Amino acid sequence: SREQVHNFAAGPSPLPTTVLEEASQGLLNYQDTGMGLCELSHRGKEFKAVIEGAEANLRQLLSIPDNYSVLFSQGGGTGQFSAVVLNLLSAHRLANPVPAEQFTPPPIDYVLTGSWSSKAYAESQRLVQPTFPNAPAFAAPRIAASSKASGWTRLPKRDEYNFSEDAAFVYYCENETINGIEFPSASNSSSDSAFPFDLVPDGVNIVADYSSSFISRKIPHIEKHAIIYAGAQKNLGPSGVTVLIIRNDLLVDTTAASKLFCVPPVPITYEYKILADNKSLYNTPPTFPIYVSALVLKHLLVEKGGLEGLEQTNKAKAELLYDTLDQAEQAGKVKCVVREKDARSWMNVTFTIEGGDDKEKAFLDGAEKRGFKQLKGHRSVGGIRASIYNAVTLESVKALCEYIQAFAKEN
Ligand code: PMP
Repeated sequence: SREQVHNFAAGPSPLPTTVLEEASQGLLNYQDTGMGLCELSHRGKEFKAVIEGAEANLRQLLSIPDNYSVLFSQGGGTGQFSAVVLNLLSAHRLANPVPAEQFTPPPIDYVLTGSWSSKAYAESQRLVQPTFPNAPAFAAPRIAASSKASGWTRLPKRDEYNFSEDAAFVYYCENETINGIEFPSASNSSSDSAFPFDLVPDGVNIVADYSSSFISRKIPHIEKHAIIYAGAQKNLGPSGVTVLIIRNDLLVDTTAASKLFCVPPVPITYEYKILADNKSLYNTPPTFPIYVSALVLKHLLVEKGGLEGLEQTNKAKAELLYDTLDQAEQAGKVKCVVREKDARSWMNVTFTIEGGDDKEKAFLDGAEKRGFKQLKGHRSVGGIRASIYNAVTLESVKALCEYIQAFAKEN
């Protein structure tokens, strides 16, 4: 049963049990309509109330400024790797109209801190290629800072950033789900590893991938971002919906932009203006994931009392687990992947078991027996990853810590 299991999945990941109970009821018979939520029109009054409620609660939870739109999109986080490039190149093109002979591909500044920011960078490079010989590229993606040389075990420091003056945008990933690296929290903004908003030249748009840390704690400086986006399947809901928080001046007509030279057309379901003009209902949205996300947001506001308490709990969970790992590391039993403490993720805790594959297998087998599920690291990096999202309780983390201590003692 659910009570016998501690689920540390990286995503899709656990959701609050009370939310799932309510959702299963709604799936069968939504608010006594005799119809399930998935059987209702996305244009009917019931679903309209769901999506509007989700937006209102998200705005309240994160204190989203009025000049930002909240959009519900599809295509996952990966879809946004492409969508941000195409939409923001259109916005940049419209804002900087020059004749063809004066066009130079604008830089796009990527901050690389792990696997997901690297994938976003690779997609950007793929999309901006010239479409015929001697044509200019649409843009020039570049690396503004990278911690790759460390094997993704730290974040770049302030003096390692090198932003362009005229970038179409700056891109970073707030929490690297695979590597377990996260920018320090708002309460630790003086850290040398904090994202250096003040070093980004004035007027340059900043895009952040918040997929795996969304609504786990306050977002520092929403107002300094152009776009914040997050796939739902960690803290928010089931996979299938991606939330965007976007500054309204970036909702541009990309068809108009594509009539200029050197900016590719944006597929219609990925155009932010189309999504915004249609209140995220241009085409059929993923109604069930949006419904469950709406229930999670209500749960966080009403039952959890907002982000502050949640942030304290998430901090306590992370500190407890890292302290336990640091002690086991001193005893030579495990090793934390992220060497820099300020860069350690509150959501995805990555470590390895000392002593080779047999020991790692013994750790995972023992974990499985005790009900600790989905602890295996991402297939690209191996090792162990304990994801401790909002719905993972302090009790579950305590239980895992006791197991790590017992394992360290016995091995
Ligand atoms: N960004 C981050 C930080 C992620 O963790 C993930 C995957 N969970 C993605 C992007 C890609 O998301 P998706 O699988 O929804 O395309």
